[in-house]
Amino acid sequence: MKKAYTFRIYPTRNQEVKLNRTLSTCRHLYNDALEERRRQAELNRLCSEFQVYPWGKPEWISYENQANELASSKTPLQKEVYSQVLQNALKRLDRSFKNFFIGSGYPRFQGRNRYNTFTYPQSGFEISDGKIKLSKIGNVRIFQHREIEGKIKTCTIKKDVDHWYAIFTTEIDMDIKKVSVETMIGIDVGLSSLVTLSSGEKIEPPEYLRMSEKRLSKEQIRLSRKKKGSENRNKQKIKVARVYRRIRNQRKDFAHKTSRKLVNTYDLIAFEKLNIRGMVQNHRLAKSISDAGWYQLQTFTAYKAEDAGKQCEFVAANGTSQECCICGNMESLTLAVRVFRCSRCGNIKDRDVNASVNILKKAVGTDCAELTPVESIQKELVEAGSLTALA
Ligand SMILES: [Zn+2]
Repeated sequence: MKKAYTFRIYPTRNQEVKLNRTLSTCRHLYNDALEERRRQAELNRLCSEFQVYPWGKPEWISYENQANELASSKTPLQKEVYSQVLQNALKRLDRSFKNFFIGSGYPRFQGRNRYNTFTYPQSGFEISDGKIKLSKIGNVRIFQHREIEGKIKTCTIKKDVDHWYAIFTTEIDMDIKKVSVETMIGIDVGLSSLVTLSSGEKIEPPEYLRMSEKRLSKEQIRLSRKKKGSENRNKQKIKVARVYRRIRNQRKDFAHKTSRKLVNTYDLIAFEKLNIRGMVQNHRLAKSISDAGWYQLQTFTAYKAEDAGKQCEFVAANGTSQECCICGNMESLTLAVRVFRCSRCGNIKDRDVNASVNILKKAVGTDCAELTPVESIQKELVEAGSLTALA
């Protein structure tokens, strides 16, 4: 089982300069390596289009090619960075190409604000006495607020605006007993920060999170009014980034608490698969924050469920909000319609509850015994005309 631990680190001025320089060197290496692969791909495409092969059979550039190239000719800046950290930047590129071949977007050039981590994949780091010794950086003060279980595999250094973190991944061997499924739940996550359960329950986000979200849009409006390129605009940008960081942390906290609650209560938890590709491509800040929050809720739930021997299922996202959860009739409803009404069987339900029931049904197959009693009662009530109050 894999686990990750995040601790804040406190570099000195001098160490921070080195950390920033390492990030920048890795980012340039990544971008150069991407450019090289892109060119080669373009060349291969042209060769095959015109059926001319002046250099023999077209070849693809692999991670190994690029790593060997790096080892044999390092720039002075690259020599200041731990070798495995550099190799890891190339590995990262290789991984994004592999993802591209199985359907993700084409690897993108990384701007200064996007590329904010570098990784020691095996060695070059060591923790002792409240310090982390990072090769080529120095002894950096670390706030380790809990014990690390298992064997540490990797150490990733992350920059978040003006804070720095060390993230350790560990591996533990554990025997986990599977729990037999007695309670199950379907979960719908929406545009707002709200979680809807197939039981009809809704989990509200904490008030402080909503406050921060309001604050963010206020600060963003302020930013849009500042003159481009001005000093004030830069200051405002940092302000926005700080609120953004606060929201991310609060959402993460919300995701941890909610997933804990779900895993403690249910043996089988069903989610709708999120469209990761669409998420990455979405540039609207508010939307990307909420997507990232849902992604966290799902992954946290999945690994907590695994720890506890419980099940977490992901079903394909299509038609869960359009389909009647009782008779399967499809209704077309716009996003503004909050209540699902079935024109065939008369089912009337909160839109998100209807969707979450469908998610659960998809996860366990149509034969969902757990649901039948409640559903049939509700159906009877609808038929008797006593549930119209819901509308
Ligand atoms: Zn129906």
